[in-house]
Amino acid sequence: MNILVINCGSSSLKYQLINSESEEVLAKGLCERIGIDGSCITHQPKGGEKVKTEIAMPTHTQAVAAVIEKLTDEKVGVVKSLAEIDAVGHRIVHGGEKFASSVVIDAEVMKAIEDCNDLAPLHNPANLIGINSCKEIMPDVPMVAVFDTAFHQTMPEKAFMYAIPYKYYEKFGVRKYGFHGTSHRYVSEKMADLMGRKKEELKLITCHIGNGSSITAVKGGKVIDTTMGLTPLGGFMMGTRSGSLDPSVITFIAEKEHLTPEEMSKILNKESGLLGISGVSSDDRDVCAAEADGNMRAHLAHEMLYYQIAKYIGSYYVALGGCDGIVFTAGIGENQPMLREKVCDYLECLGVKLDKEFNKQATCGVTGTLSTPDSAIRVELIATDEEMVIARDTRAIVEAL
Ligand code: ADP
Repeated sequence: MNILVINCGSSSLKYQLINSESEEVLAKGLCERIGIDGSCITHQPKGGEKVKTEIAMPTHTQAVAAVIEKLTDEKVGVVKSLAEIDAVGHRIVHGGEKFASSVVIDAEVMKAIEDCNDLAPLHNPANLIGINSCKEIMPDVPMVAVFDTAFHQTMPEKAFMYAIPYKYYEKFGVRKYGFHGTSHRYVSEKMADLMGRKKEELKLITCHIGNGSSITAVKGGKVIDTTMGLTPLGGFMMGTRSGSLDPSVITFIAEKEHLTPEEMSKILNKESGLLGISGVSSDDRDVCAAEADGNMRAHLAHEMLYYQIAKYIGSYYVALGGCDGIVFTAGIGENQPMLREKVCDYLECLGVKLDKEFNKQATCGVTGTLSTPDSAIRVELIATDEEMVIARDTRAIVEAL
């Protein structure tokens, strides 16, 4: 079964065509600047070079049409016709409390996703546009929604409630939801496989450290706590996001600078984190280069990041009542050995012992066990694969239809 995985943003659309039996990625690509001048599609068939083509894509429907054109193209295509695409799996950011697992998309599900628009105003409307565009081009192909929030729905109330008047939970659903659920699910299940143990008997801490970052405590295969909150702004510092703060910091600055909630939100979401502290960049590679050049604010940004990650791991160790394994994943987690070394230095008090030599080599696609055999907690580097989870869920759901 060939599954088209779609991750649709407001002006971009990422895609992968996956053969779900062999789990081969047949092709992948990205449409950029949808609805803006200079839109283009970058397409890469399996084993082939990336091909970038400028195509007018005033709407997402035209972007989906461009994707299908590439996938069925004589030269760079990988299937003969649309008939060889058996199902579409959509990444949906916010499923609120309604979705604890992936579902086949029908009118009711569309409405429920729309009901969550308030909670993810940048993401859910774009995800819905992606679904509608695919429906226009492929009206008879079954589609499945896979939610970033779903894996976190097992959190107990004591973990997901905020200590503000209860009525805000009742009126607006203000609570912690958590994000990157598909990634945390993938790496926690993979970790259980690698350890040769059943997920039901494991206590794991998964660290997804990328542009956006979150850490999750997984007990017996179920999330008991995670760092992101009502929105992906919560938790610890990220590329441009502040992470959690003393709430008074927000009202204090807003009053001093006469800022609206929207302006304040922009500062916390787009101008904070690694970028805000270093003043250099939100991209960790740039922050690393600046730190190596002696930039003290880049150094401070890193010191803060390592400390915050270590503190969350420590608190989840207590929440879980111990820990069998820690996983690092995503752009920074997979490629920045210094971060893993500095975080693991803090964790020595928990009996973590890092194989520092292997940790240094483990970058750019090298994965494996980062801890020494006598470490009290196994530390693993696993490359995340959210698209594969979406393809697996889509296949399981469509096969059962
Ligand atoms: P997103 O949250 O957008 O999916 P990613 O998981 O791709 O983000 O992570 C992006 C971050 O990963 C950036 O800060 C980038 O610097 C870092 N990163 C990606 N590749 C490398 C690399 N080869 N070496 C060091 N850092 C990397």
